[in-house]
Amino acid sequence: MSLESLYQEIILDHYKRPKNKVLQDAYSVEVHHNNPSCGDEITLRVQVENQIIKQLSWDGVGCSISQASSSVMSELTQGISIEKALELEVSFLELMQGKGQIEADEEELEDAVAFSGVARYPARVKCALLSWMALKDALLRAGGSK
Ligand code: ZN
Repeated sequence: MSLESLYQEIILDHYKRPKNKVLQDAYSVEVHHNNPSCGDEITLRVQVENQIIKQLSWDGVGCSISQASSSVMSELTQGISIEKALELEVSFLELMQGKGQIEADEEELEDAVAFSGVARYPARVKCALLSWMALKDALLRAGGSK
C-alpha cells in the first residue's frame, strides 16, 4: 500500500468513525467555528483543569477532510496540557502551510500526518485547519479565564 493510500485510509476511517463526536455536558469553554468556503462547521467543548485538557468533545458537519481532522485533533489533544496542545497546533499549521514540501513529524502528529497530502490543495487546507483553529481559540479563552 502506498503512503498516499494509507493516508486516505486513515482520513476515511476517522470520517466514518469519528472520535469524541458527542458534545459532553462538562466543559469550561465552548466555541463555534465555520469554514464558509466549504460549509464546514464545528462546535468544540473543552474542559480545562490546571492547564490540562481534561476532556474535549465536538460536533460538526462538513466534508470528510474537516470531519476527519476534527476527530484526529480530538484524539491527539485529550488529556494533554494547553501548552502542548498549542505546540501541536503550530506543528499542524506549519504542515498545512507547507504546500506539501514539509515532512511531517509522525512521532508528534500521529494520525494528523495523514493530512500532509491536503497541503497541496489550498482550497482544502482550511477544511483541515478548521478544528485546530477552534481548538486554539478555545484554549486561549480557557487559559485566559484562569
Ligand atoms: Zn471542507
